This record gives sequence, C-alpha cells and structure tokens, in this order.
Amino acid sequence: MTGSTQVPLLDINRDNEPHRDEFVETLTAVVDSGRFLFGPDVVELEKEVASHSQAEHAVGCASGSDALLLSLMALDIGPGDEVIVPSFTFFASVSCITRLGATPVFVDICPDTFNIDPECVADAITDNTRAIIPVHLFGQCAQIDRICQIATEHDIPVIEDAAQAIGAAYHSRPAGSWGLAGCFSFYPTKNLGGMGDGGMLTSNDATFADRLRLLAGHGMRPRYYHQAVGINSRLDTFQAAVLRIKLRHLDDAVESRQQIAARYMNLLCDAGLVGPDQIVLPSVDPNAFHVWNQFGIRVAGGRRDSLRGHLGERGIGSEIYYPVPVHRQECYTHLKVDSASLPETERACAEVLNLPIFPTLTEAEQDRVVEGIAAYYQAGAKIAA
Ligand SMILES: *Cc1c(COP(=O)(O)O)cnc(C)c1O
Repeated sequence: MTGSTQVPLLDINRDNEPHRDEFVETLTAVVDSGRFLFGPDVVELEKEVASHSQAEHAVGCASGSDALLLSLMALDIGPGDEVIVPSFTFFASVSCITRLGATPVFVDICPDTFNIDPECVADAITDNTRAIIPVHLFGQCAQIDRICQIATEHDIPVIEDAAQAIGAAYHSRPAGSWGLAGCFSFYPTKNLGGMGDGGMLTSNDATFADRLRLLAGHGMRPRYYHQAVGINSRLDTFQAAVLRIKLRHLDDAVESRQQIAARYMNLLCDAGLVGPDQIVLPSVDPNAFHVWNQFGIRVAGGRRDSLRGHLGERGIGSEIYYPVPVHRQECYTHLKVDSASLPETERACAEVLNLPIFPTLTEAEQDRVVEGIAAYYQAGAKIAA
C-alpha cells in the first residue's frame, strides 16, 4: 500500500513535457540570436501579457518580488509611510515595504477565501496610508472591487500582488487590471512558470508604467544619464521565449486546474470527509474566476500536521502555505505586531494544508490523495473507538 504509490505535490517536468520540442526550438533561436536581454520575445511577451490581463501596459522585470518593490519605488514610498497588506501571504508581499523603510500595516483575512478582508482594510486606513497591497492568494482574486472602491474614496493607490493569479478575474475583469499596478511572478511553481526567475508589471496608467520601466533600468534615460536611483531588474530573453509558449497554453492549463479542483471537492465530499471536525473545502467567491494555483483545505481539530505526516508516509506530497504569518517572522519581531489582532491569519496558518494540484495530475493520483485522507480519518476513528 505504501512506497510505490507516489503522488508529487507538483511535477513541473510532466507539465513541460508536451511542449519540450517547442521550448528547445525557441531557446535555440535565442542562443543563435545572441540577444539575451531586450530580445524581441521580451517585447512580444509584454504585449501578450498586457492583452491577456486587459491592461494597457506591461513591463518585464526580474521577479514578482521586484515587481512589488518597483511599484512601491515608483510611488516614492519610504520612511513614515504605511502600506496595508495581509500577513497570510508569501514574504515578498511585505518585504518590499520594509526594504524601503516604510511600515507594513497588517490586516486580517476572510476565513472562507483566505484573502484580505476589505472591511479590515477600511479600518486600517490612516493619514499615513500610501498604498494597499491586496494579494490574490492561491489563484483567487480578493474582493478587489470593494478594495478599489475604499482606496478611491481615500485617494490611495492599489498595487495588486497577482503573483499566484495570472489569468484570474473578478466580475470578469482580470487580476492586474484593477489597481494602479499588477505584479506577476513567473517563478516555476506559478501558473505561468518559467525556467528560472521572472516577473511582470501591468498598469493602465501610461505615466506610471513609464516610471516602472525607468526604475527597472537603473533610472537611466538616456544611456548613462540617471534621472533616478533605480535597480537592475530585467526579464531575460530565454525566460520570455519559454513563457510565450506557455502563455499560449495557459487557458487550457487553468481549465485542467479547475477540473481537478472540482473533482477534489466531489471526491472529498462523497468520501464523507468534509465537516467542521474533519476538513473544510476551499470556497470560491461567486464573483471570482479562480485559477487554482493552490488547492488549500483546512484541517480542523489541530490535526493538520498529523494528517500531513500520514500522507507523507503514503508517498503523497502536500505543503503548508504558510506555516508562519509574515508578522511573526523572526526579522519582523521588532514590529511588535499583536497576533490577537489577526485571529483568522493565525487560524489559517495552523489549519491550511495544500494538496497536489497541477495540470497533468491524473485522476488515479487524485484518488490516491483522497484515499490517503480517508485512511487517516478511519484510523483516527478506530483509535477513538
Ligand atoms: C511567488 C510570490 C511572490 C514573489 O514572486 P517571485 O517571482 O518568486 O519573486 C510574491 N507574492 C506572492 C503572493 C507570491 O506567491
């Protein structure tokens, strides 16, 4: 029963396999072109991502982390400024704030979607608030219509952390087209994953997009004349060439993820595993087009880690996004954030377990994941009896 039945959390090679010849062909062409930076594929990918995200402009950069940092740099955010952000997110949503000397103001999440709670955002606004960074976590948009409405009332820019949500939408409007800027990551595990690091910014504001491009290129314009102190953050041509191929298949990949998510929901329900004492399924906001970068369940009763251990013994991969909220990271102890002010964030960190989900995950593998969870609760029932 154990050992041979391995289910990976993610199998990037398997997802890439069908496109291998196309990748080799395009990468060979880049090798032969010698244009490793600013190649035509970078320009084309920018246009294609802008179009896919229904944004006017897109600017390539070196990573999703840089996209966030560049956005705040372009807003001239610095010491004394506050930026509202969730704590139930990847570190990079927050490090961009503190790196510039500004102060993160952490707000709690909605327990059903794990996304930032718009009413908490409204409550956290002060005279010093200079930006709001909603994170579209696990591939589902935050309530971005409400967040933008609150932001507009206070004349505060919204920077969307859409690193996990390329292709997602809210009220049919894509992630990255709502705020002043959208920040995307092409880290290999993201829905549009490259073969290394890469990122992109989208914006509907031409002046802001131009500022982002300036700052991503050392603030240099024209050559060797520096208008601002920028950084060096480029998307290289190899990544862009690969990403253009993957972007053509993104909608299909998303559809596969959606089918896998729906099937998990049915299987887990039918197996009688869903309930307040067992597992709680991820919930989909009816206004959201969810692209399922992650399938995050809640495990009730303090049993998340033991369920994860049980799955691991059966060769079933799982992951905890995120075990420690950002406000409790060692490097932020000096911020002295009171965990009692973020109860849903703390609860999510204690309960969430992310199950295998990637476009080429097979039904047989999914069945094994669900069987593994069922076996855990059956064993528990025997011990209790
Ligand atoms: C991955 C990720 C980032 C950072 O992207 P990189 O390309 O790895 O720098 C930022 N925010 C969130 C929510 C992410 O998941």
